[in-house]
Amino acid sequence: LESRLRKSQRLETIGTLAGGIAHDFNNLLTPILGYAEMGIMNLSSEEPLHEYFNEIMMAAERARHLVSQILTFSKSQESTTAIVSVQAVIEEALKLLRPSIPVTIGIEQHIDTNCRNILADSSKLHQVIVNLCTNAFQAMEASGGVLTIELREIMLDNNTQRLFPKLDAKRCLQLTVSDTGTGMDEATMERIFEPFFTTKMVNKGTGLGLSVVHGIIKSFRGEIAVESHVGKGTSFKIYLPLVDEKSEKRQANSTHANGHGT
Ligand code: ADP
Repeated sequence: LESRLRKSQRLETIGTLAGGIAHDFNNLLTPILGYAEMGIMNLSSEEPLHEYFNEIMMAAERARHLVSQILTFSKSQESTTAIVSVQAVIEEALKLLRPSIPVTIGIEQHIDTNCRNILADSSKLHQVIVNLCTNAFQAMEASGGVLTIELREIMLDNNTQRLFPKLDAKRCLQLTVSDTGTGMDEATMERIFEPFFTTKMVNKGTGLGLSVVHGIIKSFRGEIAVESHVGKGTSFKIYLPLVDEKSEKRQANSTHANGHGT
């Protein structure tokens, strides 16, 4: 338990540090992007300088994406909590990802449409799903495979409750993202939630995807578990506590009242 605590404190320190750097870095990117764009506009596309400015701009865009991942990870971004349909967010995320999925990869969805909604920030939940699916696709890039997304409502059993004592609702949504890709060994699994830990090549991975996922799930008071076997595949299970019905009704009533101008 102590080592877990130390680890989580260390992650928090790195997060604060990275968040501060990311914020300043973001400001530095503004003139780089701005002047590169100006250069591009003022040059004909035949001139070699046009291509150089284009390279600068693409690199700066990548940097901006990286910075936005770091800012989410370090919780410096504002969040807007609302009642969210996880099913709708899954569908939206898959729609976004679909064009870039290789034909050798199949997608299976097992969604229980009766699942209740949760209290969450939908754009953060979106990011969780996109990050997990992106990793899954990359793990199956070489040999193809199947991505499975599953959503169901569960009552926590004793084992899961013991494993995650902080989960303060007995009823949860369980979101599972599994792939039949490369899998990972124990040593890798130990470190996957650490910021900047990656086993991928420079252009493929930043090592921030899963630390962002971890931070977001924690902010939803949820939990995440991983199971993986080398050569077989990986499965991420996320537990999201359900909104209790009373507060859901209260929220619905107040929307209703507003709608009628009372
Ligand atoms: P990145 O994808 O940029 O490397 P992540 O934080 O998302 O950063 O992942 C960290 C590491 O965890 C990856 O480099 C990879 O080694 C491992 N990993 C994550 N998801 C999977 C997966 N679905 N299958 C195999 N390995 C994975």
